[in-house]
Amino acid sequence: MTVYLVGAGPGDPGLLTRRGAELLGRAEVVLFDRLVDPRLLDLAPADALRIDVGKRPGQRAHQDDIHALLLRHAHRGRTVVRLKGGDPFVFGRGGEEAEVLLRAGITFEVVPGITSAFAAPASAGVPVTHRGLSSSVTVVSGHLGDRDGPGAVDWAALAGVGGTIVVLMGMAARAEIARRLVEAGRSPETPVLVVHRGTTSTQASVRTTLAALADVDLGPPATIVIGPVAALDLRAPVRGPLTGVQVVVTRARRQAATLESALAAAGAEVIELPVIAVADPPDGGAAMRAEAARVEIYDWVVFTSSNAVERFVQLLRDGRALGGARLAVVGGVTARALATYHLAADLVPEEETAEGLVAAMPGAAPGASGSRRVLFPRAVGAGPVVAAGLRDKGWEVTEVDAYRTVPAGPAEGIGADELDAASRADVITFTSPSTVHCYAQLAGARRAPGVVACIGPVTAEAARGAGFGVEVVAAEHSADGLVAALVAHLDASPSLPPSA
Ligand code: SAH
Repeated sequence: MTVYLVGAGPGDPGLLTRRGAELLGRAEVVLFDRLVDPRLLDLAPADALRIDVGKRPGQRAHQDDIHALLLRHAHRGRTVVRLKGGDPFVFGRGGEEAEVLLRAGITFEVVPGITSAFAAPASAGVPVTHRGLSSSVTVVSGHLGDRDGPGAVDWAALAGVGGTIVVLMGMAARAEIARRLVEAGRSPETPVLVVHRGTTSTQASVRTTLAALADVDLGPPATIVIGPVAALDLRAPVRGPLTGVQVVVTRARRQAATLESALAAAGAEVIELPVIAVADPPDGGAAMRAEAARVEIYDWVVFTSSNAVERFVQLLRDGRALGGARLAVVGGVTARALATYHLAADLVPEEETAEGLVAAMPGAAPGASGSRRVLFPRAVGAGPVVAAGLRDKGWEVTEVDAYRTVPAGPAEGIGADELDAASRADVITFTSPSTVHCYAQLAGARRAPGVVACIGPVTAEAARGAGFGVEVVAAEHSADGLVAALVAHLDASPSLPPSA
């Protein structure tokens, strides 16, 4: 029973240490933070319990709850990886977790990570020290709340130290931070760099000055670098086959990471436009609620999406309400959604498709006296493959509407400006028929970007049906396959920015 406090690095999953990867590979329980890339969680064994201790707004786990979870799983003798953004001992309260483990007499090991304090500036071309410009760097918290407590930042003194200042967690108080530094003598013209989501495929950065820091419009997580080095830009120009090409990704944000990084690796400029939102089904979820209340009569509950998992599981009193019902899922993503609620999938097919799921399910014992019931909470208008396939195998399938997909709106950050920007891009990608339908509804009369690229024939069919001319259909239905097909198409097409 050992707990490992592992630094996940600043964002890019390639920046995890080898020790961190090795420990994840044999973790039984992973407690992870909000900003951790899902691809790092894939390094843990399929049956490892993955517990999100930071994610849902409003339900954010308290530090005390995290301590309790750490102790509980450690006392059960499990190998626990506590995966924390950046370095575990640079802010983020890793020290407190170590204290709790020490007090409880639990063995633990700290595995350092690459901190965003240095990696985020580097990813925007700024070295935090530079001969002739700055020979010191001070990393501070921008949380001004606890300013009077011991260990609080003395901004006036800091202004006098000179060198580079790196502020983490400082976006909310950026105006006040700039004011204090200027008041204490730093020039209003001091160069400032703000890096949002550094080292990830959706990184954005702004170069400005202390005087104008308040106007920077980037959300958290962001790192602020203050000092002469912030004016440097030491990035090698990225040239790939998609350099200079703007590509719209319509997939839901949390599913988009793989496609976005494949595009960014090829040099593309990615424009995120998550066009799908999830809403209640027409009956408000009444049918699903009724079945959830008697779920123990079912032999299996089958899930083909993490949205269905989330909406269904929240209706259960607790895990025991499932009785003997077993849980089948279509793939790793859905399995992880269940694991978030401390439920392990009993069946995950090798081939992660609806057909693969049907094939992997056992047949209902014919003539058996017991029940042979399957409950299938799914999206309104879900395809027939799973339900029909299971009926063919002898199951009585009850389908209930768990949710429906609707076009995203201003509440999800999709407004006229975002749609206009997307319509001016060079390429738009579609990864499912629902991305096509939602985009078509949202775009209205706007022209579609020059090239329409689809992940496979079903999506392409939907796009043609919606009136798009489809130029690219991936032969291999994956993020890499889509990028490869796009590169091949643009190579043969003279009308777009020349490839490198
Ligand atoms: N232990 C972490 C820091 C935790 S505090 C580390 O060593 O990196 C969280 C703050 O880190 C955020 O508010 C933001 O200021 C910064 N941060 C985390 N990830 C970042 C990223 N990818 N790009 C820029 N800043 C980041």
